[in-house]
Amino acid sequence: MLIDGACHCGAIRFSAEIDPSKVMLCHCTDCQVLSGSPFRHVVPAPVEKLSVAGNPKTYVKLAQSGNRRAQSFCAECGTPIYSAAAENPTWVSIRLGCVRQRAQLKPAAQIWQHSALPWLAELSSVPGSPEQQAISVAAPR
Ligand SMILES: [Zn+2]
Ligand SMILES: [Zn+2]
Repeated sequence: MLIDGACHCGAIRFSAEIDPSKVMLCHCTDCQVLSGSPFRHVVPAPVEKLSVAGNPKTYVKLAQSGNRRAQSFCAECGTPIYSAAAENPTWVSIRLGCVRQRAQLKPAAQIWQHSALPWLAELSSVPGSPEQQAISVAAPR
């Protein structure tokens, strides 16, 4: 499946060929911190199937496994784009939050569930509204 996306400010655009059966959620604490979200929605792609226009900045993190992972993001707006091994990458892990087809990309697996936030399973019982909510909680922006 061909997917494409762009960062929030549009400085970086990309497309990739992916296998939709490989979509997953990562609940590791690094993904929580680096994405600013409860979990990360990702899909792997071979490096040669990713094409990027623009110049992402990279931040290299040391994983629990000892692997050095390069996190690529837009230096202008901060949108996470993908990660890869810091040296000689063969695969990238594309961050689906900025992919146009994300609604069709249902996860097939969830990893690092031991650090998953405990209330995720109860989300369907949390009151919702189709757009910005009227009750007095600071509105997300
Ligand atoms: Zn940007
Ligand atoms: Zn993770």
